[in-house]
Amino acid sequence: MAVERKTAACLAVGSELIGDRRLDSNSLTITRTLARYGLQVEEKRVVGDSVELVATAIRELLARHDLVVVTGGLGPTADDVTRDGIAQAVGRPIAPDAEVEGWIRDRYAELGREMPEVCTVMARVVEGSRPLRNTRGSAPGVLFENQGRIVAAFPGVPWEMEEMLERDLVPEIAAWSGGVARLSRTLVLGGVVESDTEEKISFLYSRFGRENVTILASYGVLRLVLSAEGDEAAAGRRLDTMESAFREVLGDDVAGVEVEGLSPVVLDRLRHRRQTLATAESCTGGLISSWLTDVAGASDVYLGGIVSYSNQAKETLLGVPRDLLLAHGAVSEEVARAMAAGARDRFSADWAIGITGIAGPTGGTPEKPVGLVHWAVAGPNGVEVRHRVFPGNRSIVREWSANAALDLLRRSLGESSS
Ligand code: ATP
Repeated sequence: MAVERKTAACLAVGSELIGDRRLDSNSLTITRTLARYGLQVEEKRVVGDSVELVATAIRELLARHDLVVVTGGLGPTADDVTRDGIAQAVGRPIAPDAEVEGWIRDRYAELGREMPEVCTVMARVVEGSRPLRNTRGSAPGVLFENQGRIVAAFPGVPWEMEEMLERDLVPEIAAWSGGVARLSRTLVLGGVVESDTEEKISFLYSRFGRENVTILASYGVLRLVLSAEGDEAAAGRRLDTMESAFREVLGDDVAGVEVEGLSPVVLDRLRHRRQTLATAESCTGGLISSWLTDVAGASDVYLGGIVSYSNQAKETLLGVPRDLLLAHGAVSEEVARAMAAGARDRFSADWAIGITGIAGPTGGTPEKPVGLVHWAVAGPNGVEVRHRVFPGNRSIVREWSANAALDLLRRSLGESSS
C-alpha cells in the first residue's frame, strides 16, 4: 500500500528578505533536512514583519500542508512578530512563561550579561504550543501541533535554526514518511565544465533516473548531486551503486564527496603525503589563502601565503627577477612560474601555487585581455603552468582562477589513498 505523502511549506519572516539585499537561505537547509524523511517542501513564502501577513500566510499554508516551518521574527524587537502571528493564525492566546524567561536569563548569564528587559517578550508562549530552547542564541522557538498538523518556528540566524531543526523537529516528523527516505550525496568535481560532464554522464540517466541526478555549476567547481529513495538502508545502497558508476566514468574529475570545495581536498592530500604548501597570489588577492584557512586545522600543512600585488612585492617578497617582469609583464607564464618557485623557496614548502592575471574590469589589452590568468604549481618534480581567459566580472574571474589553481595542485598531488 502506498503511504500517503505528507507535504511541507517554508515561511521566511523578515522585511529584509523581501528587499533587494538579502535572500532567504534557511529554506534550503529545511528542504534538505525534510527530504531525508521523505517529506517534500511544496511551497515557500517570504513575508515582511507584520502580524497580519504572518498570520495569514500560516493559516493559508497550514490549510494545504501538514507542516509549516517558519524562520525569523522571534527576537525581542518590535519588528519581531512571528510569535504573535502564530497565536493569531491558530486562534490561541499568548502569555508570559516563567520557565522560558529563565532560559533566556540563563543564556545571558552564560555570556556574562544581564538580560535586557525587552527580552521578556520572547518568553511569551502560545497556548498549547511547546516552547523550544535555543542553546546557540536567546530567541526560543515554537512548536505547535494540532490535529496532526505542525507549525514550527525557529530563529532566523541559520546557525541557531539548524540546531533546533535537527533537535526539535526531526524527531516529530521522522516517522511521517513510513520509513521512506530520500537521501542525497554530492560529488564535487574540479577542473571541468558542465557541458563536458553532462556529455560524459548522460548515458547513466536512464539507469538511475534523470530526476535523481542534478548538476550544480559554480565557477570552477561542479557539484553532482545524486539522490535515491527507499527505506534508509536501501537508499544508502542505491547511492553507493550510483557513486561507483559515476566515479567510473568521471575518474579523477571527482575531487571528493560532500566536501566544501577543493581546499579541504587539497589539504587532505597534502596531509596524507606529509607535505606542505605555500601560496603566492596576485590577481586573487589572498582568496586561495582564505579558502585554505577556512578549513580548521589547515596549519599543519599550509604554511602561509604572500599577496604580491605590485611588481615590487613580486621582486622583493618572492624573488621574481626584475628582468623577467620587464620582459614578459606581470601577467605571464614566466612570472606565474617564478612566483610559485619563489613561494616554495621562501616558505621551504614542498608545494607552492603562483597565480597572476587580469581580473578586470580594467587593465586588459588585445594581447592580454581581461580574464587572462596564468597559474603555476611548483612541486618536488618541477613547475607546471596553465593559462586561460575566464569569462565574467572581477569576482567571478577571481573565483575561477582560485579554483583552477587549487585543481591543478589537486591533480598534481594525485589520489589520496585514504
Ligand atoms: P534573533 O533575534 O535571535 O536574531 P530572530 O528570529 O529575530 O532571531 P531575525 O531577526 O528575523 O531572527 O533574523 C536574524 C538574522 O538571521 C538576520 O539578520 C539574517 O541575517 C538571518 N536570517 C533571517 N532569516 C533568514 C533566512 N530566511 N535565511 C537566511 N538568513 C536569515
